[in-house]
Amino acid sequence: MQRSRLLCVLCLFACTAVLVAAPPETTLDPESLLPPVMAWDGASRSWIAATDDPWRTPAEASDFRTTPDYDTTVAWVERLVEASPRLHKVLLGDSLEGRPIWMVVASADGADSPEALHASSRPILLAHAGIHSGEIDGKDAGLMLLRDLTVSGRQRELLEVASFLFVPILNVDGHERRSAYNRMNQRGPDEMGWRTNAANLNLNRDFAKLDTPEIRALVRAIDLWRPDLYLDLHVTDGMDKQHDVTWGFHGPHSWSPAGGAWLEKQLDVALTRELEAAGHIPGPHIFSLDRRDPAQGILQWIGGARYSDGYGAARHLPTVLVENHSLKPYEQRVLGTYVLLATSLHTLGESGDELRAAVRSDQQRRPSEIVLGWGKSEVPNPTPMPFPAVEVRLSPSEISGSERIEWTGRKVDVEVPVFETTRPLGKVEPPPAYWIPAAWPEVIERLHLHGVTVETLSEPRKIEVDVYRLGEPQYGKEPYEGRFTVKAEATLERTTQILPAGSVRVPVDQPLGNLAVLLLEPASPDSFFQWGFFHPVFQRTEYGESYALEPLAEQMLADPELEAAFHRRLEEDPAFAANPRQRLEWFYERSPFFDERWRVYPVARELATGD
Ligand SMILES: [Zn+2]
Repeated sequence: MQRSRLLCVLCLFACTAVLVAAPPETTLDPESLLPPVMAWDGASRSWIAATDDPWRTPAEASDFRTTPDYDTTVAWVERLVEASPRLHKVLLGDSLEGRPIWMVVASADGADSPEALHASSRPILLAHAGIHSGEIDGKDAGLMLLRDLTVSGRQRELLEVASFLFVPILNVDGHERRSAYNRMNQRGPDEMGWRTNAANLNLNRDFAKLDTPEIRALVRAIDLWRPDLYLDLHVTDGMDKQHDVTWGFHGPHSWSPAGGAWLEKQLDVALTRELEAAGHIPGPHIFSLDRRDPAQGILQWIGGARYSDGYGAARHLPTVLVENHSLKPYEQRVLGTYVLLATSLHTLGESGDELRAAVRSDQQRRPSEIVLGWGKSEVPNPTPMPFPAVEVRLSPSEISGSERIEWTGRKVDVEVPVFETTRPLGKVEPPPAYWIPAAWPEVIERLHLHGVTVETLSEPRKIEVDVYRLGEPQYGKEPYEGRFTVKAEATLERTTQILPAGSVRVPVDQPLGNLAVLLLEPASPDSFFQWGFFHPVFQRTEYGESYALEPLAEQMLADPELEAAFHRRLEEDPAFAANPRQRLEWFYERSPFFDERWRVYPVARELATGD
């Protein structure tokens, strides 16, 4: 007795020790691992506050060596908000560890609510930093800009033409998991936060499924505050290159053709021009097909609806995924983000009306087919793209047994083939509406959160619909974002259903109809189905006993057609013929006892007139 208790205490001690263990002490200098830094001295340095300015941001005060922690950031924002009637701080929600997620509302009229903000017709920019909290450039750039929009007055006129919603830190819990060793391929700041939230979920994979409180809070804010343009601020690694600020977005081929065209013709052009004028090296957010050599081709990647840029396109909110290059010094990256944010406000002021007209046209579009996702084009664009690369040196490596890759820091300008991400991967014809039975409240709740309009049945209703019968499920081999994803073949069948009160009708004929299709069609990679919300339908829950199946089969064999089919199966399939249980099951599956809901996807498609 005494001995087993001792073991338990030991075990408890050991487990606790593992949970609270700090990382091993080290003097390793992360900078010593990185390729040489490229000299930079851009005109954007003129935006840095003077050393005697009482409104220097914490990053400026450290010469961009450090970034402030959560408490210091919030305290600095609060001091600024108190000093300027143009600013308000609003709560979006709380993180898993209970930290408030704050958004600053900056407007010429000092609006503190969505109604007050929309009382003015000025276009609205929403930007957040730290969805991946190690990539925190946007926070320190945004603090500088908030200051210059208000107390310093240096960019005061920007708020006359556009309003600014700014979330300094979205992944607040990840932000406080600070270390010098969180981002191996990134040059500064000295310590930075962690990529995922406190439950190890990646917020930039959560836009469709809405499992995390952080993205739920953000999506609720998007629905309430209705921004015209949305920027998601990151830092990316990958190969070395000269670009310091890069970005990507869904263009005119995608779910929001008019908004995509505005991003391409207005914002992209303005950002490139202004960043170059400020001494930066802007470019598209790309992946190199060969990580050592961009000349082998680059891919312009865009995200599906689980990512901010894909989600924005799916719901007709023009969205840009900003990716600063991790090997550039922190100061250069923060200043580039500052120019990008200020230019976005200025561009909204200049062509906000055009953008709003584009978004309205996307919201009113009712395409007869909706593409479920895009893949890499099979052939590159006819014209290669000039690319400001960095020289790479390859040598044998005794450590890896392969080759050692060294970026030398020497600039080399090359031409690279570009593969677009515009090849459709599957399409569906949207029905007039979807019907979701009351038994699936998690899905219904998430549609409400997205802002999708649904009609709830107050009494049961019998309706003829099309449903998908699902084939053999193929589950992901390991958990992905905390879920086991699933795919299955799906074939349509006509049937009559009685939908209980509390079931909902989701009309596709609404501004968020495109998003509803992507969330509800089982072939869509970001559908609730593929994220695993409907796993129970794959489970069989009733069976027949042999003593009852035997007389059932005898009665059914009176049907000559069925008898012929049974004997054909016996002749053609020896494994079947040798399996008594399968032989009896064959009759059960064809009997009225069989579960007619097994492997039927519960979300039904309403019939079109004339179907
Ligand atoms: Zn990121």
